[in-house]
Amino acid sequence: MNPVDAGRRDFLGRSAAFAGVALAPGVVLYEIALARETGKAASPAVRWGMLVDTTRCASGCTACVDACHAEHGIPAAVRPTDAQWIRKVELKDLRTGAIRSAPVMCQHCAEPPCVDVCPTGASFKRADGIVLVDRHTCIGCRYCMMACPYKARSFVHEPTTGQKTDTPRGKGCVESCNLCVHRVDKGGAPACVEACAQAGHRAIVFGDLNDPASEIAVRVRAATTTQLRADLRTDNGVLYQGL
Ligand code: SF4
Ligand code: SF4
Repeated sequence: MNPVDAGRRDFLGRSAAFAGVALAPGVVLYEIALARETGKAASPAVRWGMLVDTTRCASGCTACVDACHAEHGIPAAVRPTDAQWIRKVELKDLRTGAIRSAPVMCQHCAEPPCVDVCPTGASFKRADGIVLVDRHTCIGCRYCMMACPYKARSFVHEPTTGQKTDTPRGKGCVESCNLCVHRVDKGGAPACVEACAQAGHRAIVFGDLNDPASEIAVRVRAATTTQLRADLRTDNGVLYQGL
């Protein structure tokens, strides 16, 4: 290899430690970082998803929201326009009066409208179902925010502080739940899932929906589950039980 090629290769390799820079259409450093750490790219055989058991989710508990903020360096939302990747909602059954509490975040749709409308390719879906925003190619047009049926995306209006190495954020970009992709690629679970378990609720199960032996797949087979606004046919990777 000539010295110029060797130097360029070394530069690209070192650059890959920083998530989110686009190298070519459809090739971003989230994927390259995964390849570097695990020796393999995101697999289409896997479909990462979450099951939220609303019968276990406690009204008033915000452990998942707090953990998300801490994990990604997001200040607590004060104004309606502040960034928010996950929010708690209360749902009332008008026939029975029963009230359920549940977290709502990016649903990691298999058919994501946010990706369809993005003019730059910044919104993209990995082979394993995780939907992400490459903030280096996001131009802040906010088409994806309008297209998302789940109000899952936020626009960053203010300069960011408290940045985390694994979650670069920036004013003028759109962002949403990234399923803690940096943890998942190392074999871990999203911060909200761990925090919910630590709070004693275990209301969120994370795993591979395509693996019949995984806890999430077993639970989905055993219970009646719902995709939010299933009529929209976005085929969400986040499922709800007890609604
Ligand atoms: Fe995109 Fe919204 Fe679906 Fe997330 S929930 S994949 S942001 S359309
Ligand atoms: Fe794509 Fe960014 Fe526009 Fe959303 S705001 S559609 S991610 S360029």
